[in-house]
Amino acid sequence: MATSSPYDILFQPVKVGPHTARNRFYQVPHCCGLGHVRPQAHAAMRAMKAEGGWAVVSTEEAEIHPTSDLAPYAEQRIWDEHDIPALKLMTDAVHAKGALAAIELVHNGAHAYNHLSRAPLFAPSDMTMESTYPKQARAMSLADIQAFRRWHRSAARRAMEAGFDIIYVYAGHRMSLAQHFLLPEYNQRTDEYGGKLENRVRLLRQLLEDAKEEVGGRCAVALRFAVDEVMGSDGMEWHKEGRQIVQMLKDLPDIWDVNISNWSNDSATSRLQRHEGYQTPYIEFVKQETNKPVVAVGRITSADYMVSLVKDGIVDFIGAARPSIADPFIPNKIRDNRIDEIRECIGCNICVSSDGLGVPIRCTQNPTMGEEWRRGWHPEHIEAKQSDQQALVVGGGPAGMECAMQLARRGYQVTLAEATKELGGRGLAEAKLAGLGAWKRVVDYRLSDMQTRANLDIYYDSQLTSEQIIELGIDNVFIATGTHWRRDGVGRSKRVAMHNDGSLPLFTPEDVMANQLPSQQQMPHVLIYDDDLAYLGGVIAQQLVDQGYRVSLATSATMVSPFTDITLEQATIQRQLLQSGAAVILSHTIHGTVDKQVQLSCNYTGKVQSIAADGLLLVTERIRHSQLYDELLAMPAHGLRHVELIGDAATPGLIADAVYSGHMAARNFEKPAAEVEQQIFRRELISLKPMI
Ligand code: ADP
Ligand code: SF4
Repeated sequence: MATSSPYDILFQPVKVGPHTARNRFYQVPHCCGLGHVRPQAHAAMRAMKAEGGWAVVSTEEAEIHPTSDLAPYAEQRIWDEHDIPALKLMTDAVHAKGALAAIELVHNGAHAYNHLSRAPLFAPSDMTMESTYPKQARAMSLADIQAFRRWHRSAARRAMEAGFDIIYVYAGHRMSLAQHFLLPEYNQRTDEYGGKLENRVRLLRQLLEDAKEEVGGRCAVALRFAVDEVMGSDGMEWHKEGRQIVQMLKDLPDIWDVNISNWSNDSATSRLQRHEGYQTPYIEFVKQETNKPVVAVGRITSADYMVSLVKDGIVDFIGAARPSIADPFIPNKIRDNRIDEIRECIGCNICVSSDGLGVPIRCTQNPTMGEEWRRGWHPEHIEAKQSDQQALVVGGGPAGMECAMQLARRGYQVTLAEATKELGGRGLAEAKLAGLGAWKRVVDYRLSDMQTRANLDIYYDSQLTSEQIIELGIDNVFIATGTHWRRDGVGRSKRVAMHNDGSLPLFTPEDVMANQLPSQQQMPHVLIYDDDLAYLGGVIAQQLVDQGYRVSLATSATMVSPFTDITLEQATIQRQLLQSGAAVILSHTIHGTVDKQVQLSCNYTGKVQSIAADGLLLVTERIRHSQLYDELLAMPAHGLRHVELIGDAATPGLIADAVYSGHMAARNFEKPAAEVEQQIFRRELISLKPMI
C-alpha cells in the first residue's frame, strides 16, 4: 500500500487547457545552445527531463519568422513547415516519457538581429536595435501588425502539427514584440495599439485569441508574462500595470507563466539573489486574479518550499529552468523519497553562458547536461565496472571528487587522498567568498553521495608524494591536484614577470580565501589587478570594500569582470562596486611596483600611471600542480597501469570544467586508449539535400 508523503501534493495532476499534466513539475522554456542547430541533441536533452519526472517540458524561444532571426545564437526556429520534423523529434521523445511538450513562440522585434535573414527589424515605434550593430527597427504599420498576427497564427498551427501540447505567447524578458507593445518605453504609438493600457494590451490579446482560435481547443495556449521589470516606476511594476494586465486578460490564456524581466532579473545568480523563491513577492498576486493555473520560477530546489508555494495558493506548478538543468530527476527523487540525492543548482549561470557562446549547454553541477545525445550520457546511470581494478584519486577538489564518486558508482574500489582536512578544493575555498556560498553545493552533493558508498575510502591530511603513490600499490591513479594563483603579474596581458621592487606586500586570491590578508588598519588601501577577467577579481573587490578596505580595481579589460556579461551579472557587479566607492581603472596592464606605488600602463597609449597603495592583490593566471604527475611519468619502472592528470591540474578553467574532466575520466576508465583517442562525440551534420 502506498504510504502518504508530505510531498504528495506535488504529484497531483493539473489540467492545462485540454491536457492534464501528470504532476506539478514544469520545466519552463529555457535556452540551451542546441535549438534548431542541434535538434537531436535538443530532443534528447528535453526527453531526459521528461524521464526525470517533469510533467511539462518546454523548448527555448522559437523564432516564428525570418524577421525574428537570432543567428548566430542557437534558439528554436519554426519559420515554415521545413522546421516541423526537427521539432517533432522533441515532442515524440518527450511524449514517450510521459510528459507534455510546450513551445515558446516568439517574435523578438527590436531584440532580434536579422543578421542571417537581413530582413527589416520591427518595433512598436522607431528605435535602434539592442546590440551595437548600427541598425534601427521601424515602427510597425497596421499592415505589419496584421502580417505579424498572421505569422504568429501560422506558427501556432505548425507547432500543433509538430505535436506540441502547449503553445506559448511570449511577453517577457524585454525580448519579445508582444511585451514591447506593452511598455511605454518602447511604444509611443498614437493609434489603437498605443497610448492607454487597453490599447497597448490589444496586440497581446489578439495574439492569444488568434492562437486559441487556430488550435481550436486541441492545444493549451500559455502566456509567459513578465509582471515586473525591477526598474521601479521606470518600467512595469507588478502592483500597477502588471496587475492590471493580468486582470484584463484573466482567463484568456489556459495557463499563466509569470516571472520578472529582464533575463538577468529572471535568471539571477545566487551571487546577486541569494534566496530561492526570489520572484515570489512579485508574482504571488497572480492567482488572485485568474482561475487558470499559474507557474512561476525562482531557482526553487527545496521540496518543502515547493509544497508551501502550492499550499499557500501562490502557484499550481513549480516552474524550473536551472534546477531542472542541474538535476533533471528532481521530481522522481522527491517522489521516491530520495531528496538527499538532489543535485541542487548553485546559481552560477554557466548554463546561461553557453547560450551567449552559441555552444551546447553545460552545467557546473551536472556534467552530463547537453551530452545526452552526443555522448550518450545519463545523469543517473553510468556503465558498470569492467574488471576488479582499483583506483586512487589524488586531490579532493571538484575534479577529484567527481572522478572518485563516478568510479565508485561504476563499482570500482576507490581510494581518494586529500592533502588537507576537508574535501572541496577550490569548490570549498571559493564558496567562502562573499556571495558564492551556494557554490558549496558542488562539494556537499558529492560528499553526501560518497559517504554512502562502501567501496570508496577517503583519506584526509594525506599529501601524497610520488613514492607514496607507488608504495600504495594501486595500479590506476588519477591526479587532480589543482592549481595556485601566480604572484608575479604574468597573465593574458603580460607574458613576463612584472617589475617588483619589494616595496609592497603581494597577495593572490588564495590569501583572501584563507583569510590571510592584513587587517584594514595595517593595509588600508588594496589595489587589485585583474587580468583573469572572470568573476574572482570582482568578487574579491566587493568583499574587501564591504570589509572596510579602500579598494582600487585595475583591470586590463574595458569593463569589470567581462566574463560575467554572459552570466548576466556584469552590469550589476560594476554598478555595485562603483556605488560602494571602489575606484575602477579600466584598460590598464600592470608594469610593476616602485616605492610603494603600483605602476599601470594604458593599453592604448602606453602612458604609465602610478597609484600609491598598501598592498597589491594579483588575479592573473594559475600555475598547474602537475609535478606529481610528471614525476610518476618520469619513473621508468613505476609499474602503474593507468596514470591520468585531470581537472585544473590538467587544464585550468571553470569549476564546471573541472567537474566535467573528472566525470569524463571516470567514464573513460578502462576503455581502450585508441577508442578514447578517436572518440569525440556524435555530430549533427548539415544535410546536403536542397531544402526545396
Ligand atoms: P580541481 O578544480 O581540479 O578539482 P582543486 O584545486 O579544486 O582542483 O583541488 C585540488 C585538490 O588537490 C586540493 O584540495 C588540494 O588540497 C589537493 N592536493 C594537491 N596536491 C595533493 C597531493 N599531493 N596529495 C593529495 N591531495 C593533493
Ligand atoms: Fe545551476 Fe550553475 Fe548548473 Fe546553471 S550551470 S543549472 S546555474 S548549477
